[in-house]
Amino acid sequence: MYLVGAGPGDPGLMTRRSLELIAQADAILYDRLIPPGALEAARPDAELRYVGKRPGETALAQEEINALLVKLARGGKTVVRLKGGDPFVFGRGGEEAEALAAARVPFGVVPGVTAGVAASAYAGIPVTHRDSASAVAFVTGHEDPAKRDGTLDWEALARFPGTLVLYMGIRSLGSIAERLVSAGRDPDEPAAVVERGTLPGQRTVTAPLARIAERAAEATVQPPAITVVGPVSGLHETLAWVERRPLHGQVVAVTRARAQASGLAARLAALGAEVVETPAIRIQPRPLDPGLAERIGEYSLVCLTSPNGARLLLDGLRDSRELAGVAVAAIGPGTAAELKRRGVRADIVPERSVAEALVEELEAVPVEGRRVLLARAAEARELLPDALRARGAQVDVEALYDTVVEPLSEEQREALGHATYVTFTSSSTVRFLLEAGGTPPEAARIVSIGPITSAAARDRGLTVHVEARRHDVDGLVDAILEDAAR
Ligand code: SAH
Repeated sequence: MYLVGAGPGDPGLMTRRSLELIAQADAILYDRLIPPGALEAARPDAELRYVGKRPGETALAQEEINALLVKLARGGKTVVRLKGGDPFVFGRGGEEAEALAAARVPFGVVPGVTAGVAASAYAGIPVTHRDSASAVAFVTGHEDPAKRDGTLDWEALARFPGTLVLYMGIRSLGSIAERLVSAGRDPDEPAAVVERGTLPGQRTVTAPLARIAERAAEATVQPPAITVVGPVSGLHETLAWVERRPLHGQVVAVTRARAQASGLAARLAALGAEVVETPAIRIQPRPLDPGLAERIGEYSLVCLTSPNGARLLLDGLRDSRELAGVAVAAIGPGTAAELKRRGVRADIVPERSVAEALVEELEAVPVEGRRVLLARAAEARELLPDALRARGAQVDVEALYDTVVEPLSEEQREALGHATYVTFTSSSTVRFLLEAGGTPPEAARIVSIGPITSAAARDRGLTVHVEARRHDVDGLVDAILEDAAR
């Protein structure tokens, strides 16, 4: 049994240990504030159980959760109790550990990055500072001081010589600030509210302590949010970094197939965008010709025209040594990278990933009278085999997979509905997205990689707002950056 912190929301802030345990667990009991995708690494047969609040329903009582933990752990299972932030910072992890100890269930604790530190850091607010904050207090805002039934000593907190970080206090922020000021805290002390810290759409609102609640209300700040009270809050002005990234606040839909999307998605995310992946296609492998592994050594040249093709071909071989005496051509850097991952260095790699470039590059390779294997998608242009045959090669084409349109899931459609940019990297991405039932929202700006893709989009009734000047992923990203800066 492990009590595990999942961090404040950015999946990149999950610890290595938390991911290891999630991957091992037989059962995972989780709360609402865990990072998106945190359970992706769980085993397919793991029992995943939500034990947090649902809208309009009461949460499982803490005693019920404690009892459930004890029961599952006694069954001999590896159980992970996954919580937002750190399990022992306002996470009731202490109570759960006590229940486990009382039941003599062995357990471990995996600390997580707590929201008070992480949301502050992502807002450019260091919770301690050599010049202005030598101590920091984590304070629950759950106790409304107006109700006067809490356990917090507000006078002591008003005098506290350092930063106050308030958790859970958005609804009672007005009365908390008032209480601190009436107990002697400086009404002009800088304060900041960080909403959805470390998550897409993070926002920070700053004001002097006496006015912070009013400013947060004006900005309709919603939970989850923390409030930082102290001179360090004033540093947001100078040190904000997340909120200054050029694509912060933009939601960019990436429509290409997942295998090719990752490079584009990573670049957009690094620029601050929230990326929604809506691949409308799926790669469906075809059964591989059983004789292929036997005869592959007889070819002088093997051409691979996509990363998927490279992956599937190598899956069909016993190992990469079967390609020992064979020249290998990849259609472009992505395919070459996939080959390299599998221990095969491509001999021929054109810079641009198009059949025309490969045909050109292959002109330097003698093919007349030689056997050439072309391993590729079932549906593909005949340009490459035709060109090789015209030069006297004996070409075999092996269709490794079909590309099938897959209807978008409910979640994908909903995510697409929030997009501020929808990107198309080829005519087929336009066709596939629309056939899969994906409709770019009215307000989104449509970005195309070049004129052919733009024409395909217009043919299908879309308005193209932005067209890349350079027709590759970098050009596409540049075009979005330029458009977003306007
Ligand atoms: N154990 C958690 C805290 C749980 S209490 C931790 O260590 O972070 C829930 C409160 O945490 C929220 O009301 C909010 O004040 C704060 N919180 C959690 N995630 C947050 C986020 N992404 N941004 C800002 N505050 C967050």
